[in-house]
Amino acid sequence: MKRLGITQTLTNYEFYPKWFTKDDLGEDIQLVHLSFEHFDLPLLATLDGVLLTGGIDIYPGCYTHFAPYPNAPSDFQHQRDLFESLVYHHAKRMKMPILGICRGHQLINILEGGKLIQDLGLPGNHKHRADGKDKEHDIMVLEGSYFHSITKQLNGKVNSSHHQAIDPEHIGHNLIPVAWSEEDGVIEAIEYKDTSDTGYLLAVQYHPERMSENCTHSFSENIRKDFLTAIRQTNFMTLDIKNPATGQILTSLHVDQPASIKKKYDLLLDGQKEWAKVPLGERISKIKAFADLLEAEKEKLAEILTSEVGKPLQQSRNEINGAISRINWLSGNALKYLSDEVMFQDENITEVIRYEPLGVIANISAWNYPYLVGVNVFIPALLSGNAVAYKPSEYASLTGLEIERLLVKAGIPSNVFQVMLGGAETGEELLRLPLDGYFFTGSYKTGQYIYSKVAPKMVICQCELGGKDPLYVTDDVENVGAVAAGTADGAFYNNGQSCCAVERIYVHEKVYDAYLDAFVKEVSSWKMGDPKEDGVYLGALTRESQLDFLENQVQDALQKGAVLLAGGKRLDRPGYYFEPTVLGNVTHEMMVMKEESFGPIIGIMSVKNDEEALKLMSDTEYGLTAAVYSVQRDRAENLLSKLNTGTGYWNCCDRVSAALPWSGRQQSGFGATLSHAGIRTFTKVKGYHLRG
Ligand code: NAD
Repeated sequence: MKRLGITQTLTNYEFYPKWFTKDDLGEDIQLVHLSFEHFDLPLLATLDGVLLTGGIDIYPGCYTHFAPYPNAPSDFQHQRDLFESLVYHHAKRMKMPILGICRGHQLINILEGGKLIQDLGLPGNHKHRADGKDKEHDIMVLEGSYFHSITKQLNGKVNSSHHQAIDPEHIGHNLIPVAWSEEDGVIEAIEYKDTSDTGYLLAVQYHPERMSENCTHSFSENIRKDFLTAIRQTNFMTLDIKNPATGQILTSLHVDQPASIKKKYDLLLDGQKEWAKVPLGERISKIKAFADLLEAEKEKLAEILTSEVGKPLQQSRNEINGAISRINWLSGNALKYLSDEVMFQDENITEVIRYEPLGVIANISAWNYPYLVGVNVFIPALLSGNAVAYKPSEYASLTGLEIERLLVKAGIPSNVFQVMLGGAETGEELLRLPLDGYFFTGSYKTGQYIYSKVAPKMVICQCELGGKDPLYVTDDVENVGAVAAGTADGAFYNNGQSCCAVERIYVHEKVYDAYLDAFVKEVSSWKMGDPKEDGVYLGALTRESQLDFLENQVQDALQKGAVLLAGGKRLDRPGYYFEPTVLGNVTHEMMVMKEESFGPIIGIMSVKNDEEALKLMSDTEYGLTAAVYSVQRDRAENLLSKLNTGTGYWNCCDRVSAALPWSGRQQSGFGATLSHAGIRTFTKVKGYHLRG
């Protein structure tokens, strides 16, 4: 099925869809209403063609300055201008067929660098519009133009209802007029001049969607049919977005190709230079506006997130709340950590550190907490004046598009944040481009590969990778039941799909039995099921392939002597559900204690003393977090200090604070996000020695 997007206001959407008859559309083309009031940007990735329609005058500030003129509307629709400019640029980049009518025709000229005549005649305009009614007049067509090849006419009659027109002295880049009004030479149609690297474009000043019998039939009918043929001929690579709770396809998105990625990169290159000049205070306010929009639209965003990653709705809301509080911390501290620092000053010299942006950076992201891990990177990157090529995970693409929509709505220029849709190939394409920094969140395997590819570029490459995070419960804990319940949550929240989820548990032998009982009791009390249902704590896993992986870990453990205390298998129902699984009697010979599970499964092992616990906790190639539960802070801190991890937890686990660095060691990666380190990581420091 092909999808044709039609821009229109909510109040006036009548003629355009009617123009496309059922016979024209057949079974294979669907009309999609693109509303600027709803700022429907995410829909663009599902379209195969766009029609930019007529309507209220474009705000003159888009192509010149505003000065009052006789037929100016009482109100402009500047949001519409902005929205439709994004629609046009997206369609152009993707080489998607574009048809412009009246206002759409004028807008295309402006977006290509041209200007408009603001009023064709004073007072009113009796050749092209009178008293709000359509007028009719003859036009002549450029012989040999594409327009001519479709309409097959060199002359004919069309309707019109406009008082503005394309300024013949200011025709947009690569556009050529191909039809004119016979009476006064007003431009009636444009197309691309050089079509060697473009998609389909045709734009007309008149209204083919509502012509009377007096007008020339082929100026309407032929255009419509030709445009639909062009849409039928499109052949975009698509990415199916599945709902993990049902296994059903939610929608299909067009993935970016090398050409569109390059165009987006060029856009970011230009945009970054201007963005870096925007005063820091202004950048901060725009980022705060983004946080306000996340708050205002939380429910809708949570629904979208749950629908594509399968986490319970409440956990989606929690994630958005968490993202908002991180943004608040980062934007609240940006002035402190990004302003110039005077390090020394006397009568001879002033020494200053300045934090300059890196430039255009890549944010290649994961799906498990797309808001949180995204915000860790793109918020401080934008605050410090960078432009961001954001590649959401292929499993969190809808959320990536929502993030882009809200950033633009918040006033972040569209040429400083661009979403690159797709999987590994899209990421690979970013690796080929000369970006100024690469910030990756994902698995060790991909991170290591990316690091090796970025190394020759001699730019920063930061990797936040997986973990096999250990937790130790000592013999002195006071309330074993409460510790078991809290740590079970640390292992199973978000179905265990957290980089800092507790992945293996060591319990002192004195409290092992009591802990195990309470742990299994807690796990058995949880509700698993449809993530949109109230009270569900465990939803669906995001990736189907993880079901086999987890079953393998269980089989491997059982074959090597583990005891299954809960769960152990996938659920026999549509969607990707795996029972919360607890394994006792485990050893480090088993995959479940060595390999990142990233699912609802945990091995619990009894240890004799702190030394044995420390030895086992250290027995890993990862180094993200580690936790110790004990009434004695000294005992816990002593153990944590000996572990090679980026984070240590005493009597808590699976938590992140915006004020503290988030950083891995060994195969969990390197570099830091969050905290002052995670703001300044998006800058290059420069020392100024200022004498005089
Ligand atoms: P992944 O490595 O499969 O993919 C991550 C991203 O890399 C995706 O956007 C993917 O499309 C892209 N990618 C894949 N192959 C690529 C290639 N060849 N070139 C460029 N890009 C490529 O990881 P995932 O499944 O999305 O995420 C899960 C992993 O992320 C887990 O290991 C988890 O622990 C880790 N993670 C770590 C943190 C952290 O802060 N340390 C946070 C979240 C997730």
